[in-house]
Amino acid sequence: MTVPAQVHASFDGPMVMIGFGSIGRGTLPLILRHIAIDPAQITVIEPLSDFAPILADHGIAHVPLALTPENLEPTLTALFPNGRGMVVNLSVDVDSIEIMLLCQHLGVMYLDTVIEPWPGFYFDSPLPNKDRTNYPLREKVRGLGKNYVGGPTSISCCGANPGMVSWLLKEAMLHLAADMGQPIIAPQSRAGWASLMQSLGIKGVHVAERDTQISARPRPAGVFVNTWSVDGLLSEGYQPAELGWGTHEKRLPANGHAFDDGAGYAIWIDRAGADTRVRSWCPDVGPQFGYVVTHNEALSISDYYTVWQGDKAAFRPTCHYAYHPCPDAILSLHEINGSGQLPREKHILTSDEIVSGGDDLGVLIYGHAKGALWYGSRLSNDRARALAPYQNATGMQVTSSVLAAIVWAIENPNAGFVEADEMDHALCLGVQRPYLGRIEAHYTDWTPLSHRINRFAEDGDATDPWQFVNFLAV
Ligand code: NAD
Repeated sequence: MTVPAQVHASFDGPMVMIGFGSIGRGTLPLILRHIAIDPAQITVIEPLSDFAPILADHGIAHVPLALTPENLEPTLTALFPNGRGMVVNLSVDVDSIEIMLLCQHLGVMYLDTVIEPWPGFYFDSPLPNKDRTNYPLREKVRGLGKNYVGGPTSISCCGANPGMVSWLLKEAMLHLAADMGQPIIAPQSRAGWASLMQSLGIKGVHVAERDTQISARPRPAGVFVNTWSVDGLLSEGYQPAELGWGTHEKRLPANGHAFDDGAGYAIWIDRAGADTRVRSWCPDVGPQFGYVVTHNEALSISDYYTVWQGDKAAFRPTCHYAYHPCPDAILSLHEINGSGQLPREKHILTSDEIVSGGDDLGVLIYGHAKGALWYGSRLSNDRARALAPYQNATGMQVTSSVLAAIVWAIENPNAGFVEADEMDHALCLGVQRPYLGRIEAHYTDWTPLSHRINRFAEDGDATDPWQFVNFLAV
């Protein structure tokens, strides 16, 4: 199984990739396969030299540097002498917002997969928990974006999730509309998509993922094993749990708090996301637990799909991540939740180490007349390995999203600050579909109240299964 080397776009300016970790290594071959670009135009800024031979093999320049608040501006300015080009930020520990602003001043396009701060925000921070959430980070990006309307395209948070799941959500809604006998006309505006969601009777959206990839080697105690950035999962997993908050919700969960500034489309829970479980559903296994790890899409989707009547939200869906990581990552989280100590060693499973499993990543849209619909990508590691080098199933879903975002940016170079919800979902999924395995739709009559081994005293609301308090398992 190979993907035809269809060229989706041409790019003749400098392209700078920041970070050459699991996602950077997987993205590079897709860029070289699908974008007409001279490899001599590409530079990778990455402090580690472990994978430098891959860059040398392709004739790509390597700047072996850790970006800091002091060296960021001179380093990037020197790499973009002509006021055009693109930054593809796939690093940890480099402040996304600072790069976004610098790119606007340099006249350069930008994209990332997460709003990343400088070190000191996620751990050992003096900030109260409320301020360590993603809400203030996203509000800052959205606020700054208003100053750069029509500026060089600057895509915030566009990997698989956040990212691709926003495109899958639109496809899922059109699928549901067709199955409900409604005319399938894709709305052309944000307000149109929001009223379509309201008219479909959707109450909420889980970004529902199950990663089943396993290695033949048992996980050694003390080693945090994952299928993508261990640093990334630790950072977001130990931010407070956070979710977009729907208008159908009757009450906050225990330790839940509203934000008192901005449009107020989200809430946070005073508990680590990697220790906050919800009941959810994925096609491989059916009912499952997922973690409410905070993610930009939980905020952007609830914000994007709000139906406004004046300054009042007449409709808004609840939205959050319900993430079942790979078995070794579950064990790793269990270990550090118990020990209260960060791991002594970190390891990302490569496609060659993984002996079976894959990643089911999609949206579970619930509360409508047909119950719940899961719609998403079902990709095995075996298939991912055959499709492109240097990545497992999880990586493939992310890197193909980054490729799609690069193509969209090249076609829309002056879009200013955007998120995945605001991009052309059909174009983007068209680019990445060959890499997503099977895209499947599954209806289920499952609800968070329906599967229990014995009944115990628990907070909940028997009058409406789709209340968040029924999903939350404490
Ligand atoms: P990784 O940990 O494998 O790689 C991160 C790389 O950044 C490392 O190679 C590291 O050396 C480099 N780096 C660290 N500090 C740096 C600095 N100061 N300057 C330049 N480079 C620096 O992570 P990954 O799995 O490749 O993920 C990359 C990013 O993508 C992470 O932020 C992660 O959270 C994000 N991500 C997003 C999604 C999504 O779907 N949206 C999915 C996976 C990963």
